[in-house]
Amino acid sequence: MDNTFKLSFEQDLNFNYSYQSIDNLSEYGKYELSFHPERPKYLDYISIFDVVEPCLESSEFGACLVQTHRAELEGIPIMLIGQQSGPYSNYTDLLESLKDPETVRIWNHGMPVPASYERAVKAIKLAEEEQRVIIIFVDTPGADPTEQSEANGIAWRIGDTIHALADVKVPTISLIMNRACSGGAIALTGTDVTLAMEHSTYLVITPEACSSILFHTRSRANEAAEVSQITSKEGYIHGIVDELIPEPNGPAHRNKQQALASVKTVLREYVMNDSDFDPKTIFEKRVDRWKKIGHWEEVDPSELNSLHRPVTRFPVPKSTGYVKRHVKCYDTNGNRHYDPESIKKLQKTNFVCDVCGHRYVRPSAWDYINWIVDDDSFAEHDETKLIADKDILGFPGYVEKLKETRRKTGLVSAMITGNGIILGKDVVLCATDFGFLGGSFCMSTGEKVWRAAQIAIDRMVPLILQASGGGARMHEGCSSMVSIPKAHVAISCVENAGLPVVTLITDPTLGGVAIGMASRGKQLFEFNAGHIGFSGKRVIEQYTGKKTSKGFQTVDWLEKHGHAERIIHPKDLRDVIYSLIKSKN
Ligand SMILES: [Zn+2]
Repeated sequence: MDNTFKLSFEQDLNFNYSYQSIDNLSEYGKYELSFHPERPKYLDYISIFDVVEPCLESSEFGACLVQTHRAELEGIPIMLIGQQSGPYSNYTDLLESLKDPETVRIWNHGMPVPASYERAVKAIKLAEEEQRVIIIFVDTPGADPTEQSEANGIAWRIGDTIHALADVKVPTISLIMNRACSGGAIALTGTDVTLAMEHSTYLVITPEACSSILFHTRSRANEAAEVSQITSKEGYIHGIVDELIPEPNGPAHRNKQQALASVKTVLREYVMNDSDFDPKTIFEKRVDRWKKIGHWEEVDPSELNSLHRPVTRFPVPKSTGYVKRHVKCYDTNGNRHYDPESIKKLQKTNFVCDVCGHRYVRPSAWDYINWIVDDDSFAEHDETKLIADKDILGFPGYVEKLKETRRKTGLVSAMITGNGIILGKDVVLCATDFGFLGGSFCMSTGEKVWRAAQIAIDRMVPLILQASGGGARMHEGCSSMVSIPKAHVAISCVENAGLPVVTLITDPTLGGVAIGMASRGKQLFEFNAGHIGFSGKRVIEQYTGKKTSKGFQTVDWLEKHGHAERIIHPKDLRDVIYSLIKSKN
């Protein structure tokens, strides 16, 4: 009996595992190959190291999904951190183990939970204490999309992991073994070097979910995978993977020992050449690396002048001081309300309807700028104002969408950065517009945060970030996601210069925005805001098949779960930010 698992294309007689055979696979076929259940996992790869001993072991739910070991390679001390996506890579053992519902439960379909990332953060800190090179093995379909994980602060725990990797004073290497998908993967690839197995994939969103957004059906996953360019080989071409590790004589699930030997050869080289533990050199090299990440273009100054105008989204009241009630306002008894609403009352509730909880507006970047800094004190940075999004994938409709959005919002990209004054104190401010493609985090945003951070350091003034957005920008593929650690490194530079960083978290702040800049600095949560966390409500309800609880992901709900300490009404923003930054410089 053949105790192996065969993907559909492996059953095709014309498929023979040769380089050519694999190259001829569809993009979706390559995706399936990257998480073939028999591909070696973290616990297989640890055999290439010496003196391996487990550390930070825990019986907490989710701790097995990120495992940690002390080890050595060529006598150099190593901290191993590995995403283990399932119990075995041997198919017979795997099938046997999955008969036990408890085993299925604890492995959680390979999706790490907050406890998994807490273990990773502890290992990163321990590696610094013990002066070990950090080597991280990455393999995950994504982080856990459940209400429980949101209640346990998964967005902030992923953010803490990227933050810890940005700050740690030892060299860091990540290695994508199999499938590295979404924020669950980017949590662990914000490293000094990112390596990837030849047949692995590195992606921001699953092809099925991408297809569902692009084509309104999950069945066009192959097209979605093609346009997103999800293989690590393509990631290498785009500069987000530093080196591909060959899988000699065929894919790793057929040639395990060769794959392991190949990984050892490459890792040995990196570890031996890069085990300089001087903290200053490590951080300088890290800054040099992340500075180069991402692609963008510049608009012509004449285009900037023609489209640039401050846009506000606040409703304009009639002379009576009332605005039209939003449509479809029903109270809890099912009665529809039509009567106009007083603007003063709406300002008090921060534009949230007191009958049904609907928010009338999502303010524009300019609205936030006007709330945060003194009147007429904002001056956009010359260094960032021309930076625009670049269509590196030739993604369907992206260029047209960008043009239309620029016209509509009066902005060149989702973020606008500039110098401003708060109650007489100079600051650098980065504001985001949800109206610009959902404020999604992208390469231009990463670069703008980077340059704004450098300006804050040059001027020795605090950095204020206003976060807003529904995730990472799908149209830029994995490159958008890889700009998230870049923003973390930029913010670390500001903090290392002894300057305050204050972040205002607004409605919505999800996914790539939450795990990126929104998880840094002194966090302020906008009064009555909602949609704050990692996975959106709709994704969670679809995955679990259950309705989320009342008030889910609102600031009050976050406060109840211990994740929102400072909830601030817009009218108090200036005073509160001033009180947080006044003691420094
Ligand atoms: Zn209402």
